[in-house]
Amino acid sequence: MTDAISITRDLVRCPSVTPADAGALGVLENLLKAAGFDVHRMTFSEAGTADIDNLYARIGSEAPHITFAGHTDVVPPGDESAWTLGAFSGEVKDGFLYGRGAVDMKGGIACSVAAVLQYLKDNGGKPKGSISFLITGDEEDVSVNGTVKLLKWCAERGEKFDHCVLGEPSNVEVLGDMIKVGRRGSQSGTLVVDGVQGHVAYPHRASNPVPDISRLIVALSDQPLDHGSAQFQASNLEFTTVDVGNTAGNVIPGQARAKFNIRFNDNHTQETLRRLVDARLETACGNRIRAHIEWLPSNSNVFVTKPGPFTDLAVSAIEEVTGRKPELSTSGGTSDARFISSYCPVIEFGLVGQTMHQIDERTPVSDLEKLTKVYRGVLDRYFG
Ligand SMILES: [Zn+2]
Repeated sequence: MTDAISITRDLVRCPSVTPADAGALGVLENLLKAAGFDVHRMTFSEAGTADIDNLYARIGSEAPHITFAGHTDVVPPGDESAWTLGAFSGEVKDGFLYGRGAVDMKGGIACSVAAVLQYLKDNGGKPKGSISFLITGDEEDVSVNGTVKLLKWCAERGEKFDHCVLGEPSNVEVLGDMIKVGRRGSQSGTLVVDGVQGHVAYPHRASNPVPDISRLIVALSDQPLDHGSAQFQASNLEFTTVDVGNTAGNVIPGQARAKFNIRFNDNHTQETLRRLVDARLETACGNRIRAHIEWLPSNSNVFVTKPGPFTDLAVSAIEEVTGRKPELSTSGGTSDARFISSYCPVIEFGLVGQTMHQIDERTPVSDLEKLTKVYRGVLDRYFG
């Protein structure tokens, strides 16, 4: 069976909680091989993490090359007895298909596979270019043995992608309301203020970092990092904890620390952002306060796919099927699109995200049908 509903059901019935594959990639491998795809399965490893299965499948050797990306791993089901139809049932009731991953994002993958199989059937079994699938089992957890290594593996073999559609649940309320065309970057750090420890009765012999870290937190929080950009809201620095770790009531502590996270837009790179915040800290410290920032490594850079022919054809396909003109949004958290964006323009469009990661995750069956039509519309326009 090659319709989106039965593919979703077959995928949901594989309990592929990260790092387990539980047969999920095999479902796709069988379908794609039968349609003439060149299918590769690879297991990636890294010390301290679980081995993860991945899949890359391509049909055609010419440009343009469109790739559909996604992940077959899912988050744990939680209390399985609380599910109406079983966490991995894939059953349909009252027009909804139930099961962990139905929305995030086995349903999205199933729709892209169904759309591609239909497209090939209607076009003599061959695309006017290349179509591929870039599917990992490592998105929901540490994301170490997944898309990053899959993209590197492809690059080493000379695979070049022109455009990517990532089928993550991008819609907020109804199918067709949102395409994600970018994400803010994320950068965390710790503000460290060094004082001099001493007795509270003899403060002249000590230097208290507590009032100083308070001043610095206010200084760094008060000044906006920018005023937004064409595609993004303003960047934001948010302190999340302040820690002195002092258990004594009569001791001035020697050091105070405060953690923060910055979500930043395309006015910055990680490097320019760090320089900006370091410089503001230096100004706020003056000659008196001794403080520095410990920056944490981050693999989450900002990216944006600018409006153009590729976003236009996606919008047109979505409008035709749903009657809605989707917002091109850069809101929300991160996804594997941040890695793919280093290789080609990427947009995210999938199902409606409302029930993802919840008990009774489910999608309307009608949305699976519509999303398949949208992907088919994308393919027709892309190769037309
Ligand atoms: Zn997801």
